[in-house]
Amino acid sequence: MTETLTAPESAFETAQAQLRKVADLLSLDPGLTEILAHPRRELTVHFPVRMDDGQTRVFTGYRVQHNDARGPVKGGLRYSARVSLDEVRALAMWMTWKCAVVNLPYGGAKGGVVVDPRSLSEGELERLTRRYATEISILLGPDRDIPAPDMGTDARIMAWIMDTYSMHHGHSVPGVVTGKPAGIGGSRGRVEATGRGALYVTQEACRQRGLDLRGATVAIQGFGNVGGVAARLLSQAGARVVAVSDSRGGVYSDAGLDVESLHAHRVAGGLLAEHPLAHEDITNAELLELPVDILVPAAIEGQVTESNAPRIRAGMVVEAANGPTTAAGDAVLAERDVYVVPDILANAGGVIVSYFEWVQDLQSFFWEESEVNQRLQRIISAAFAEVSAVAQQRGLRLREAAYVVALQRVVEAIRLRGIYP
Ligand code: NAD
Repeated sequence: MTETLTAPESAFETAQAQLRKVADLLSLDPGLTEILAHPRRELTVHFPVRMDDGQTRVFTGYRVQHNDARGPVKGGLRYSARVSLDEVRALAMWMTWKCAVVNLPYGGAKGGVVVDPRSLSEGELERLTRRYATEISILLGPDRDIPAPDMGTDARIMAWIMDTYSMHHGHSVPGVVTGKPAGIGGSRGRVEATGRGALYVTQEACRQRGLDLRGATVAIQGFGNVGGVAARLLSQAGARVVAVSDSRGGVYSDAGLDVESLHAHRVAGGLLAEHPLAHEDITNAELLELPVDILVPAAIEGQVTESNAPRIRAGMVVEAANGPTTAAGDAVLAERDVYVVPDILANAGGVIVSYFEWVQDLQSFFWEESEVNQRLQRIISAAFAEVSAVAQQRGLRLREAAYVVALQRVVEAIRLRGIYP
């Protein structure tokens, strides 16, 4: 007997399936749906970098601009050995919806370089970043396309990009990237913003579901910028974080993990599994299926799929990562009535504070962290309330409702501007 194998759903297939589902729901004009199903611009670059041993290596990078109907495009840069054009297309499309759902005056973009940043020396990383920034600089600019950190990139890399762009222009242009260090125009609160936004939406979701976050059990996949911050803030808010993981696997303790100590261990370069405190080692697959109140995928795409979704035991999933649930996996969660706070809402805290940073750079007027956090909470909580109201009115889940809100805004902008010429 021959077994029929289906290829795993790619990130861009997930993104397109999500779009088409809501376009049908809104009876959107097919021409408009086609515009939105494709990125506006895609740039692929192959560029040389001189390595420390004197050899030259050629790297591949991408920058994709999905849609700019609502303003300059915004989106992170990912350094990862497994990044692909398909993945960057999906991430760029999700940025369009994310900016629209929280009503920022931006379109969506994303970029990436195929590289494991941990395999490079500091000097190699800087040369790679500066050359990649130069290659994609034909697209960049504070009124055109504004990158930010994503997986594998950080404030230091944003500083090199800001400097490279500024050198080409002969003067400092801080507004060309966000997520920079505070000393060169970065915003207070930006590093924690995505995790903090995830905390705020989790609090809203708990309120709506009648779940007390104090004492609720939480499992978090990914312990980087987003997962690590979310773990600490959720734990400070009284939740019992019972499991966290990184790419090598995870740690579990029914009594709750000492998140601060795990964080300090990670900052010192340690692997989670090597942490000395009492815990059990678990795999990433096991973490996703733990019987917790709240599951927070905060690592990579495609983690909750058709095959493991039937075994997800969390009552609530807060998608801090981009695209952690495939369309087929989401259909299973919907059938099983699992409450999902979708990525475009759950992780919008990062781009909201990136927007604050850009506004501060353009005005050369900088805010206190308390002001940043208050404004973040106001915007993300209002977006949550709006999406929940649409969900209730139309009998939808939060994901479809978030897409309805986002799509309506983007479509309105396209209609107002018209199709050129
Ligand atoms: P990061 O590089 O700081 O951390 C990623 C974490 O995921 C690390 O702990 C890593 O070990 C883990 N990981 C990587 N591959 C894994 C795998 N195969 N299985 C399990 N864990 C794995 O990245 P980040 O900035 O925290 O981003 C995480 C997610 O959040 C991504 O989906 C990203 O697109 C999304 N996101 C990030 C931001 C931001 O501001 N940084 C904003 C919005 C969304």
